[in-house]
Amino acid sequence: MILSGDVGGTKTLLGVFEPAASRPRLVTTASYVTNAYHSFTDILDEFDRVAAQHGTIDAVVVGVAGPVIGGVSRLTNISWDISAAEIRTHRGIRHVELLNDLEAIANSVELLTGDEVAVLQPGVSRTDGNGAVIAAGTGLGQAYLHRVNGRMRPVPSEGGHADYAARTDREIEFVRMLREQFGRAEVEQVLSGPGLINLHRFTHRGGECDMLAGAASHELPARISQAGLTGRCQQCAEALRMFVSAYGAEAGNLALRAVATSGLYVGGGIAPKILPALQTGTFMDAFVAKEPMRELLERVPVKVILNPEAGLIGAAVHAQSLIA
Ligand SMILES: [Zn+2]
Repeated sequence: MILSGDVGGTKTLLGVFEPAASRPRLVTTASYVTNAYHSFTDILDEFDRVAAQHGTIDAVVVGVAGPVIGGVSRLTNISWDISAAEIRTHRGIRHVELLNDLEAIANSVELLTGDEVAVLQPGVSRTDGNGAVIAAGTGLGQAYLHRVNGRMRPVPSEGGHADYAARTDREIEFVRMLREQFGRAEVEQVLSGPGLINLHRFTHRGGECDMLAGAASHELPARISQAGLTGRCQQCAEALRMFVSAYGAEAGNLALRAVATSGLYVGGGIAPKILPALQTGTFMDAFVAKEPMRELLERVPVKVILNPEAGLIGAAVHAQSLIA
């Protein structure tokens, strides 16, 4: 059996999978509040109560929201590190690997079924091209899928911390606000839950908004996008519109960098919650507005990943390859 994990700044998902020819079969899964534990092995011990009855674990692969260097990852906003060596020693398992969380999602995209994605642009998928994944959630992740010897090979990146590229006078004003506050404007400060809060602050300058009354801080991004989707607050609606347009533009940047003619996938927790806003055309208009590359981008298949377990599945795919 395979144990796979998806460790985020907010939530940790663990799953047991049975190896299978096409796609590993999920046997059981559980979700934990990351910050409520002192180490990853504490979460593993807790999961054992569920997992132990499903047989011997032969491989463990965990996707982590952060760079993985030398088998170790330090999570943003979490006080503990996670290391492959720690898991290997703790569990006495030889096959243990950490992946960047977007690298894990990238491992799953070719196996997702039609009902696990929403198509924003059908495009024409090339079997000899590259792919890419972008995912806004607690932070912003990006990964490449490079075609090597006919197969797509996931490659992690820290592209979410690259500079935010403003395209309009309004966005340039927003960059000024971000620079005043953070010293620089990185794309994650726009495309993430905290990014939605930054956009909310920007569009409500000098104006009131009662949409956030009584909300805990972790509920703010969902409140803003809800108020934007329903149009109950005009400034919230502008914040969501700016978010969607910037998301499309950055997805287009990533598609250009990867030459993602096999497909661009939008993952992360935010996209499924704002799907109607992603389908209005604002996202795709910004995605393709990259003359002289419009024609290339209009042929890129663009899909939103709806299955929240894509990272878990992708980590299991990689684990399966370790014991094959
Ligand atoms: Zn508002």
